[in-house]
Amino acid sequence: MIEGRIYNFSAGPSILPEDVLVKAQKEFLNYEGSGMSVLEMSHRSKVYDAIIKAAEANLRQVMGIPDNYKVLFLQGGATGMFAALAMNFGNKTGAADYVVSGNFSGNAFKEAQKYLKDARCAGTSKDDNFNHIPTQEELTLNPEADYVHVCWNNTIFGTTWKYIPDTGNVPLVADMSSCILSEPVDVTKYGCIYAGVQKNLAPAGVAVVIVRDDLIGNEMPITPKIWNFAQQAEKDSMINTPPTYPIYFIKLVTDYLIAQGGVEEMKKRNIEKAKILYDYLDSQDFYKTTVNKADRSMMNVCFRTGSDDLDAEFVKGQAAAGFSNLKGHRLVGGMRASIYNAMPKEGVEALVAYMKKFASEH
Ligand SMILES: *Cc1c(COP(=O)(O)O)cnc(C)c1O
Repeated sequence: MIEGRIYNFSAGPSILPEDVLVKAQKEFLNYEGSGMSVLEMSHRSKVYDAIIKAAEANLRQVMGIPDNYKVLFLQGGATGMFAALAMNFGNKTGAADYVVSGNFSGNAFKEAQKYLKDARCAGTSKDDNFNHIPTQEELTLNPEADYVHVCWNNTIFGTTWKYIPDTGNVPLVADMSSCILSEPVDVTKYGCIYAGVQKNLAPAGVAVVIVRDDLIGNEMPITPKIWNFAQQAEKDSMINTPPTYPIYFIKLVTDYLIAQGGVEEMKKRNIEKAKILYDYLDSQDFYKTTVNKADRSMMNVCFRTGSDDLDAEFVKGQAAAGFSNLKGHRLVGGMRASIYNAMPKEGVEALVAYMKKFASEH
C-alpha cells in the first residue's frame, strides 16, 4: 500500500486498485501524447473514441458478453436505470415482477410503479429485515410479465443470490451494482444486467447496461432520449456527452483486471477474503452476523456486537487502526465491511486483527 493510504471499506464510492490510480495519475496531464488530459478531451475525438471502445471491448472480454447483447454507458447511475428499465422494458403488457430483497430492489420497485400499471412485488424478505434471499418457492411469478427484476447483491443488508431464479420465458433483469466483475456471470441467463459503477468498477458517474438486443426498441414514448436504450445503442452511448472520465476508468480497471487473470481470479481472491472474515465471525460469539449463512455476500459483510455503544466505539477506533467507512448502513446498524475486488487480502486480515483486539479489550 502506498504510504499514507488506508484500508477503505466504503460501500460506494469505494476503493479502486492502487495500480490503476497510479496509472491514471501518470496519464493525467498528457494522455498518450495527446497533449491533454482525458478530462479535457472531446468525446468525439479519435483518441477518446479508442478509450470508450476499449472499455466496451474489455467488458465484453472479461464478462463473456455475447454479440447479441449491447453494452451501454449511461448517466443517472443505477437509480436512473430503475426508471429507465421500466420505460424501456415495460411497454408490452405493462406488468413486471420485482423481487424485493433489500433497499435498492425496493427502490427499483417503487420507481417502476410510477410508470407501469402492473408492477408487482413477486417475493420479499422484508418481514425478516432482509436477512435472506427469497427462495424460488417463495416467488409468485407472473408468466405474462414483461420482465422480472432482482438485485443480485444487496449492498446494505449483505446478502446475495446464490441461485438464478427460474423465470420461464420472462427476461430476468439484474442490478449487479455491488458485485459486477466479482465473479464470472453467465450473461445469457439474463435479459439485462446493469450496474452503477462506483462499487466495483470505476468512480461514480455512469451506469453500465448490458442488454439483449431483442429487448430494446419497444420503449414508452415518454422515455427520455438519453435513456432510450435502442437509440443509445444506435449512437454508441453518445447521443450527448457521456461521462468521459468514469468510462476511461472502466477501461483502466478492466485492463488491470484482465492482466490479473480476469473474473475467475477475482472470484478466487474474493472467496478467500470473505472466508477470512466469515470464518472469524463464525468462530466466536462477541460479534454476530445479521444474515442467513447460505445467502452471505462476498462483497459486503455486515456484523454487530449486540450493543449500540460498543458498535459506536468499534467504529470510532477505526481511524487509529488505519481503516475507514466501517459503520453499517442506518437501516441495519452495526458494522459493514465492503471488500470489493480492489480490497487486498491484507486489508481483511488487518480488519480481523482489529476485531480480535477490540473483542479481547471489551
Ligand atoms: C449503490 C447501489 C445502487 C444505487 O446506485 P446509484 O448509482 O447511486 O444510483 C443501486 N443498486 C445497488 C445494488 C447498489 O449497491
